Amino acid sequence: MSEIFVIVEHRLGEIRDITFEMLWKAGELAQKLSYTVTTIILGHELNSIVDNISDRADKIIIFDDERLKNFNADIYKEILSGLIEESKPTLTLIGNTSWGMELAPCLSVKTGLPLATDCIDIMFKDDKFIAQRQMFNGKIFSNVSFAESKECLLTIRSGVFPKDKIGDRQAEIIQKDFPLTDIPLKKNFIEFVETAAGDVDISQAELLVSVGRGIGEEENISLIKELAEALGGVVSCSRPIVDKNWLPKHLQVGTSGKSVSPKVYIAVGISGAFQHMSGASGAGIIIAVNKDPKAPIFRTADYGIVDDLFKIVPVLKEKVLELKKG
Ligand SMILES: Cc1cc2nc3c(=O)[nH]c(=O)nc-3n(C[C@H](O)[C@H](O)[C@H](O)COP(=O)(O)OP(=O)(O)OC[C@H]3O[C@@H](n4cnc5c(N)ncnc54)[C@H](O)[C@@H]3O)c2cc1C
Repeated sequence: MSEIFVIVEHRLGEIRDITFEMLWKAGELAQKLSYTVTTIILGHELNSIVDNISDRADKIIIFDDERLKNFNADIYKEILSGLIEESKPTLTLIGNTSWGMELAPCLSVKTGLPLATDCIDIMFKDDKFIAQRQMFNGKIFSNVSFAESKECLLTIRSGVFPKDKIGDRQAEIIQKDFPLTDIPLKKNFIEFVETAAGDVDISQAELLVSVGRGIGEEENISLIKELAEALGGVVSCSRPIVDKNWLPKHLQVGTSGKSVSPKVYIAVGISGAFQHMSGASGAGIIIAVNKDPKAPIFRTADYGIVDDLFKIVPVLKEKVLELKKG
């Protein structure tokens, strides 16, 4: 029976959300096409990780070894390439995360399998899998398939699939020994450095007021802070704001920042590039303030205000304060 591999991403003993999202998609495809879902876990002391996914896969292959305690693409590549060559899974899914973006290309070179990165969907048509990707800042959707190969590697964008369980499975657990004797290491893990979370964790906030490059100058960010405070929300931002050192990295939303899921996400002066929006895809309601009516953010926003933020934000703040006074 054909197989879908899902490479489990975990950190400090916790499974990352992207793993559950990939398992959801793998489960959906497996149910439709009568495939099996196999998850591969490399790490050390993995009991709780295995428990958390044992009802989402048909098979769990475990490599548990001290040397796998921390992610290292050099070691992962060697072990996974052996497994892929042995089992020949039709699809191998890897998160399009910093972790996966390091692993997938070298795994593709090592196995000789084609790779499509940052996929937002996987379809099955005319007897082959088609991966959907976005191009030109999300303006074009492209459907990719591989003429030369039945098997392929796909990296999956975070936040595009639900994290829910799909189907009812009970995995067969297969323990494997650490298979390498000579480890060709080009890099070594040194230490984990937690981002300075300060007293704000935007991934937990219920209301975010997010500021983008449209704010123009650093001193104008106080406008956004005042609006967030009036609303009882938290400030977050797009990447250019972090690149300019106007706000700290732990407030950045997006593929290289955090994924957030507030009830309300107010995006001010943000164009809506997919690298930003994929981090905000879990938001309940998105409200955008942007002076450009063609800004891509209006395609995803539930409500939009096409106007100058310097006109709108102070008025919004005053209205909120008035309402609060009663
Ligand atoms: C590998 C990679 C990873 C990335 N990761 C991230 C990420 O994690 N998060 C992220 O945010 N980006 C990320 N980016 C960058 C991303 O592609 C965009 O460049 C970025 O999101 C744009 O930020 P922005 O919307 O603030 O700025 P811009 O795209 O410059 O948009 C500014 C918007 O403000 C509007 N505006 C200007 N003045 C006003 C005004 N007075 N009133 C109202 N509106 C106004 C403009 O119309 C415009 O739409 C990444 C890029 C790469 C290549």
